[in-house]
Amino acid sequence: TRKVMEAIAAHRDPSRLPVRLGDRAYDILVGEGLVARAGALIAPVLPARRVVVITDETVAALHLPTLTAGLAEAGVGIVSTITVPPGEASKSFPQLQSVVEAALAAGADRRTAVVALGGGVVGDLAGFAAAIALRGLTFIQIPTTLLAQVDSSVGGKTGINLGLGKNLVGAFHQPRLVLADTGVLGTLPPRELRAGYAEVAKHGLLQGELWAWCEAEGARAVAGDPTALAHAVMESCRLKSAVVAADEREESEEGGRALLNLGHTFGHALEAECGYGGELLHGEAVAVGLGLAASLSARLGHCSQELPGRVISHLQEVGLPARIGDLKRRFSAEALMGRMRKDKKARDGAMRFILMRAPGDCFTTSDVAPLAVQTLLRDEGC
Ligand code: NAD
Ligand code: MG
Repeated sequence: TRKVMEAIAAHRDPSRLPVRLGDRAYDILVGEGLVARAGALIAPVLPARRVVVITDETVAALHLPTLTAGLAEAGVGIVSTITVPPGEASKSFPQLQSVVEAALAAGADRRTAVVALGGGVVGDLAGFAAAIALRGLTFIQIPTTLLAQVDSSVGGKTGINLGLGKNLVGAFHQPRLVLADTGVLGTLPPRELRAGYAEVAKHGLLQGELWAWCEAEGARAVAGDPTALAHAVMESCRLKSAVVAADEREESEEGGRALLNLGHTFGHALEAECGYGGELLHGEAVAVGLGLAASLSARLGHCSQELPGRVISHLQEVGLPARIGDLKRRFSAEALMGRMRKDKKARDGAMRFILMRAPGDCFTTSDVAPLAVQTLLRDEGC
């Protein structure tokens, strides 16, 4: 039956979402079995039938053979396959240098495309390598985590980390095509799938209708249901790409890409306090951040008093933390506020928040009294 199911999936057309970015416009394809058909799907956008594939060890073991076969089938040659260790540490200058050198040493030229097969780490590293190697190569994203499919593979931000902080060096480099194969999510650890779902819930709260879908059907996506996952990916990409198309380089002060940071002011502070060693995944921090952003919005009178309860109970129902008390460690309100004042989004030391009036109606503000934030954090047990 598995073979038959695969054959059926292989003949169903993927859903296609055009991202309108003028001469950098591209498509996001969402569906099952796209990795196996990658050669035929990407061939039309390649400058020449040759690619460099960049992946990590975990993803290579699970999905690289399928990609290699899919490329060979369409006559797309692989100049080199470059495999980096899994994990955030691979987003570094040394790793970037070795990836670019390996690609060029293997014979990559200006008509060679870079294909990223992996999660957000591989996408950010490979995308930055593609942006700078030979002053810019065609870039294809094949995201393999839910987070990468709904968030990092869309929008053109690429980059690496410094000791000073995350994502401090990078470039905008739009992909030429994104293949979101929901089938590969089947091998993703459930905790990673849930963490990616936090960004879907965030997109839901920004968009409105998608939030109603999350409350009704989101649990099915978190349980791995392929139809529900495909819907979550498609609608998330629709929301994010529309926001990006309106504000490609995050230049808008009000709204625009900054809205995508809903839940992230609190989330980044919690993540930074925990260190980036896996104690708290980014999506888990964002989930708590969404709960806190809803609570802050209600306390300031911007949204209904019911909304925080609904946000928190939905996230908790799908197995995500949504309150500081859901996390195992204790946090100091002062330390968290110190982090939020130093956040990349902060202006002149004023914390910057995305607040909610209702699902589908969010706004950015730097005008929140620190005391309101402190009281909230204290009430949350800090
Ligand atoms: P990740 O790339 O580290 O992947 C998480 C883990 O899952 C890794 O161990 C990976 O090897 C493994 N994995 C990947 N696909 C798998 C699969 N199909 N089956 C089994 N295991 C699999 O992490 P992530 O959560 O995908 O991405 C996080 C990164 O994305 C961060 O570096 C973050 O800064 C970046 N990011 C970038 C943007 C952007 O706009 N560029 C947006 C959000 C996040
Ligand atoms: Mg995020």
